[in-house]
Amino acid sequence: MTADNDLAREPEDIEPTHVSRQRLARAMAYLDESTRNLFEFLNAPRHAVSVSFPVQMEDGSVRVFNGYRVIHNRSLGPGKGGIRYHPDVTLDEVRFLAALMTWKCALIDIPFGGAKGGVACDTKQLTENEIRHITRRFITELGDAIGPYTDIPAPDLYTNAQTMAWIYDTYDTLHPGRNNLPVVTGKPLDIGGSEGRQEATGRGLFFAAQRLISTNLLPELTRLEGVRINIQGFGNVGSVAARAFREAGALITGISDTQGGVYCSDGIDPDVACAYKNEHGTVVGLPGTQSLTNSAFLEHACDILILAALSNEIRIDNAGRIKARFIIEAANGPITPAADRILNGRGIRVLPDILANAGGVLVSYFEWVQNNENERWELAQVNAKLKAKMQNAVDAVVNRWQNLSTQELEPASQGDAGQWAESTPIDLRTAALVIAIERLARVTMERGVWP
Ligand code: GLU
Repeated sequence: MTADNDLAREPEDIEPTHVSRQRLARAMAYLDESTRNLFEFLNAPRHAVSVSFPVQMEDGSVRVFNGYRVIHNRSLGPGKGGIRYHPDVTLDEVRFLAALMTWKCALIDIPFGGAKGGVACDTKQLTENEIRHITRRFITELGDAIGPYTDIPAPDLYTNAQTMAWIYDTYDTLHPGRNNLPVVTGKPLDIGGSEGRQEATGRGLFFAAQRLISTNLLPELTRLEGVRINIQGFGNVGSVAARAFREAGALITGISDTQGGVYCSDGIDPDVACAYKNEHGTVVGLPGTQSLTNSAFLEHACDILILAALSNEIRIDNAGRIKARFIIEAANGPITPAADRILNGRGIRVLPDILANAGGVLVSYFEWVQNNENERWELAQVNAKLKAKMQNAVDAVVNRWQNLSTQELEPASQGDAGQWAESTPIDLRTAALVIAIERLARVTMERGVWP
């Protein structure tokens, strides 16, 4: 077996389709033969659309943008997942993220399959008009690839309620004469959006962390009062989570964004930080704080580290230097498989993305139900349902993790799965995946493999 020190010197394979496959294989080691039989089916994305389209820019030039929409699995219901606008978007990344949505929806137990979309573009370099033109043209190019009962987009990185309003309006213009509100979620409140949707991911991860801490599974973390929290990424999710943890008595000691991090051992007031960021476009320079580079920020000591930025932030090369005691994946895929293994070996527990950030898609589901029923739920009702679902999912994952921790793996587990299973004890991510895959496999077999 390679020692972790040696591992850190090897280049790490973080090709998204390989990471997806590896994670699935690791979970398969804990599942029965009939489920393992579905491995290739569960791994392969079902449907992918790739489009290139022209947009006339403010200066009169015409630029071509590449966009993607992938449905990974539809066994539980229509495809569901966000659309991101980011310069690094690729088809493979979108496939990886669509698979995460499949596991997330199955785990949190809502009747949706997994999907994802994206356009490679840098919204920081675009005007609002240009973003609107990109959105309308992208949705037009997708045509019937999305729909209220086939595939339902939502916000993701650098898209928001305004983007969703344009998506709805474009789809509704192309398909007039019926209630099209359920075609997209995360809409503004006065166009069928749900109370609590915008805060749902941050609030949901707070409910999940609070529940996990109450189980005493994190021996040195039994309460939130006085706990020091660093948050990488101070956007919609990070700032909402900061407020929720602070209200519960935790200290937000550090926050960061693309330009760098800031730290203050006495704690940062999230409201003051939001106001500062709105004015200056970054948290860097926030009065009373010490500035850190982004890499130093990640490695700074704290009790809880919340990763609310991009994928692959903790990798083989920095996992050994992380000093947090507990990590929450607010973003999708912020920890690589090799880093997972290193953190696991060092006793640092990780609340995995498919559980930690599931509050977003959960309240998207509530929005979709309200749109279909022509209803509007109160914020208190939405939050109570969000809390209950998040807590149930945490309890299920913790129970499964405890049961599987004592399970002897069958020697028959071979290939990718066998290797992973031998080398590390089970983590919360794998326990969560096992629950999701089991649900999906059960439904797949009940529906039958057509024809
Ligand atoms: N983009 C969010 C996610 O990654 C939300 C998806 C949705 O609401 O459909 O979970």
